[in-house]
Amino acid sequence: MQTREEFLHIGNGKYLFYVLMFLSLGIMVLQIVQRARAWKQGKPVTWPQSFKIWVSNVWQYVLLQRKVRTSRRKSGAPMHLLIFYGFLSLFLATSLLAMATYAPLLGLPNWHKGGYYLAYEAIFDILGLFFVFGVLWALLRRWQMDKATKGGARAILTTEWKDYATLGLLLLVGFTGYWLEAARISVNPQSWDKASVVGYAFAQLQGPISVGLYQFVWWFHMVWIFVFFAVLPRMRIRHIAMAILTTAGKTDQPMGELKPISMEEVEQTEQIGVKLAKDYSRWHLMSLDACMECGRCTEVCPAYNVGKILNPKQVVQSIRGAMVDGREIAEAVNPEALWACTTCNACVEACPVLIRHVDLIVDSRRNLVAEGQLSGTAATMLRQVASTSHAWGQPASNREDWMKGLDIPLCRDGVEFDYLFWVGCAGATDPGAVKTTKAVADLLKKAGVKFACLGQEEACTGDPARRVGEEFLYQEKAMGNVATFERYKVKKIVTACPHCMNTFKNEYSQFEGQYEVYHHTQLLQKLVSKGQLLSAKPPRGEVAYHDPCYLGRVNNESDAPRALLGEQTNLNGMLYVPDSTDGNLAEPKHFGRKTLCCGAGGGRMWMDESPEQRPASRRAQELVQTGAKTIALGCPFCRIMLDASIKQVTDEEIRLVDLAEMLQEANREK
Ligand code: SF4
Ligand code: SF4
Repeated sequence: MQTREEFLHIGNGKYLFYVLMFLSLGIMVLQIVQRARAWKQGKPVTWPQSFKIWVSNVWQYVLLQRKVRTSRRKSGAPMHLLIFYGFLSLFLATSLLAMATYAPLLGLPNWHKGGYYLAYEAIFDILGLFFVFGVLWALLRRWQMDKATKGGARAILTTEWKDYATLGLLLLVGFTGYWLEAARISVNPQSWDKASVVGYAFAQLQGPISVGLYQFVWWFHMVWIFVFFAVLPRMRIRHIAMAILTTAGKTDQPMGELKPISMEEVEQTEQIGVKLAKDYSRWHLMSLDACMECGRCTEVCPAYNVGKILNPKQVVQSIRGAMVDGREIAEAVNPEALWACTTCNACVEACPVLIRHVDLIVDSRRNLVAEGQLSGTAATMLRQVASTSHAWGQPASNREDWMKGLDIPLCRDGVEFDYLFWVGCAGATDPGAVKTTKAVADLLKKAGVKFACLGQEEACTGDPARRVGEEFLYQEKAMGNVATFERYKVKKIVTACPHCMNTFKNEYSQFEGQYEVYHHTQLLQKLVSKGQLLSAKPPRGEVAYHDPCYLGRVNNESDAPRALLGEQTNLNGMLYVPDSTDGNLAEPKHFGRKTLCCGAGGGRMWMDESPEQRPASRRAQELVQTGAKTIALGCPFCRIMLDASIKQVTDEEIRLVDLAEMLQEANREK
């Protein structure tokens, strides 16, 4: 019957094989145990979160490779898919073979024969080629990138000798596997050998060989297998196993949520935030070991791309190093890099193994702030939030200036309302953002929506303080606002600021504040779809829409804003955003979930930066390149940042306008 002998011509050498195999597996397990001890130093997490979530995450992110498939990398994604599915098939083939070989120990027959054997040989022989081609592709790609880096290009994918060594080892494992198959066919030909498609072809090229050469090839292959297992925990390819563990522990924590610190925790540890790697959660520590150093996070980082010192891949690697050598995070990572982050979450969105860079960065910022390491304009912002509850330090009375002559209903007057219209610090006092605020109020009135504002009773949501790292100032503001909402029985909130929206929607529940939260474009779109308002219909190519990070990416809302411009899209429901919507709008290169940050988030709005290092300049350039004469947006922060940058990058007259204002114009006659 068609089959093959497992230890053909190896004789008693199989006992040596077992000894060496157990030795290499033992070395591997020992390293994993050491690593697990390092993870265990972290803060405990509930793990696994839920078996259902774990299965769904493993299915989507590991088996279907969701993040890799949706990456914009032209060669990186297919190459990675070849290696991954090739590796998976080799793993499956080895496991099936081991099960069949040792089945007799359990009193079961060895089923590795007949039709099953022929199908097994043909399928896995071909799938193994994926692996070999993928590894060859990776070697070539690294070599090309390495050359470009040496030629002066800024490195996204840095290459060290160990990267070539790892790929070389993988290639040896794959190649010697085929050579062994060919040697077996050459030394012991059978009529059914053609089923082993690749090995058979090699055997034809090789011709007959001696038993001695066959034995050499057998051991040569096995040596590389032993080496592979022994060094696996030290190689990047460990991320295949680590990604399964990381996804197992991943919570359903929204992208825009930062976890709070409690006073009890501070009393216990006598410390705020993360000083040493062990202060992170066990899940975060484990996720560091899942990093495959692919550089996807760095590639999309707006700070890195304008030449700042922040390199999210390097941040992950440095914290990983600190987990081993016990250095303080501020020693392992240059604090300047930590401050450069806009918390735009582009890195989190891009990371195939679900690492949450923003948590890592903000947690260490918390410690820097507590140790008095923040100075300058951002520290001034914190003092302003603390003293006036306004991020730009304006007195509470100024929050009602925009209302003059507009007859805006106020909660304190006891009016009945369905929606609290949350205006925000910028929305109340920044001249550009005030235009948006007035437009939203006007449209809500026109549509007959019952709303009210808090006026002087509004206090900063605390979002800029939290993201800069001043957690307890944030908590004070959040609790104050939750108490105000409670007093006025607020159930639904609408706001024109994606940062305020994010914190109400994803973070206030940490203080028992549960609300139905809308970005103004979402509520306006609802009113348009019910016929209570008209949408704007700009001529083709005249308007480009800039997706704010905290709306388009962090809160997955890209369709409602476009619907206000008469554009029907399904970007929210898609796994990835295509290169063009082919619609009326002039889309910039980055849009939807893959939008490009304006540089204002994470408290960066209040930090000084040189004009050539402004993410807003890069974004302004992209928007201007669309040829659109109007740039629509839905965030007061983006408006402030882009306003200055557009003037810098072009002399042309470009109109920067909030979608609410465009809708107000379309509904002027209504
Ligand atoms: S953190 Fe994620 S995206 Fe960045 S290099 Fe590591 S695996 Fe790649
Ligand atoms: S959140 Fe944005 S700015 Fe910060 S590291 Fe990630 S990509 Fe860079």
